[in-house]
Amino acid sequence: TKGAEAGLQENLKQLVDRGYKAHWLSADEAAAQLGTDTWHGAIMDTRGGTVQPFGYSRGLCRAAQQEGAQVFGASPVSEVKREGGKWVVRTPRGSVRADRVLLATNAYTGFHSPGLNDQLARSIIPAASFLVATEPLSDNLQKTILPEGQCFSDSRKFLLYGRKDAAGRMLLGGRGFLREPKSRRDFKHVEKALRQAYPMLSDLKFTHHWSGRIAVTRDYLPHVHEPEPGLMMALGYTGRGVALATALGGAMGTYAATGDKGHLPLPVTPITPIPFHGARAIYAGAIFAWYRALDALAN
Ligand SMILES: Cc1cc2nc3c(=O)[nH]c(=O)nc-3n(C[C@H](O)[C@H](O)[C@H](O)COP(=O)(O)OP(=O)(O)OC[C@H]3O[C@@H](n4cnc5c(N)ncnc54)[C@H](O)[C@@H]3O)c2cc1C
Repeated sequence: TKGAEAGLQENLKQLVDRGYKAHWLSADEAAAQLGTDTWHGAIMDTRGGTVQPFGYSRGLCRAAQQEGAQVFGASPVSEVKREGGKWVVRTPRGSVRADRVLLATNAYTGFHSPGLNDQLARSIIPAASFLVATEPLSDNLQKTILPEGQCFSDSRKFLLYGRKDAAGRMLLGGRGFLREPKSRRDFKHVEKALRQAYPMLSDLKFTHHWSGRIAVTRDYLPHVHEPEPGLMMALGYTGRGVALATALGGAMGTYAATGDKGHLPLPVTPITPIPFHGARAIYAGAIFAWYRALDALAN
C-alpha cells in the first residue's frame, strides 16, 4: 500500500547499509516484475530464490542419509527421558539411546504427542498459513506474471506471498486459522485475494489447497534452549525457517559434536512459556480482528 512505502524504504536502507544487493522498484517497475499493478512499489532483493519445500526436505534427508544418518518416518516420539546416563527417545515402534537429542518440532511441538514438551509447546503460537494453486497459466500469462520466476510477499499485517511453480501454476498463500482447514471453503479468502491481486487469473480453476503451521514467538526470533545438558531445542522461525532452520540446524549439529556454544548464532535461553497460552484462541482472535482492520484501512 502507499502507506507502507515509508517502512519499506527504511527496510531497504538497512539492507543496502549492510551491503546487500537490493533496490527500489517504482509502481511501473514493480508491475512489470509482478505482472499486475496491484502493488504501489516494491523492494527487489536479488539474493532471493524459490524452492519446492517438500523436494527440499527430501533432498536434505537424502544428503543426511548419504552421510550415514538413519531416518525414521511415521515414528512420533512419545517420550524423551534420561536413563542410565543417556537420553532415551521412545516411539510406538522402538526407541533410540543417545548422548544428545535435538528437538526440532517447531510449530508441531506437542501436535503428534500432546503433553510431550508442554513447556516448549507453550513458548510459541502455532499459526496456520493457507495456500492455493491455480491450474497452469497460459503461455501469454507466463510471460507477463513473474516472468523470471520471482517470488514475492507484501507488507500487510496478514501478508500475502506468491510464486509460480515448475508447472506454471500460480501459488498464493495467506492467513489461516488457528485450527486446521476443514474443507475447501476455508480457503475462500485466499482464492479471493488471488483474484483481487491478479484479476486476469479470475477464470482459472483452483486445483490445489493446502496448509501448514508456523511457530510464532513473542519476539519474532528463533529460540535455542537446552533445559538439561544434552537436551537441545531449536524452534520459532515465525514463517521464515526454510533457510533459517537449515542454517541453525548446521550450527546445532556443530554444537552437538563439539560442545562449543561459540558455534551457535543465538544465545541459549530458558524456555519462556507465553502467558495465558491456553487462551490464545481468544487473544489471537482479537489480534486477527485488529490486523484485519489495519489492513482494510491501509488499502
Ligand atoms: C504454508 C507455509 C508457508 C511457508 N513459507 C515459507 C517461506 O516462504 N519461507 C520460509 O523461509 N519459511 C516458510 N515457512 C516456514 C517454514 O516452513 C518453517 O519455518 C520450517 O519448516 C521450520 O523447519 P523445522 O524443521 O524447524 O520444522 P518443520 O519443518 O515444521 O518440521 C517439524 C517436524 O517435526 C515433526 N514432529 C513434531 N512432533 C513430533 C514428534 N512427537 N515425533 C516426531 N516428529 C515430530 C513434524 O511432523 C515435522 O515434520 C512456511 C510455512 C508454512 C506452513
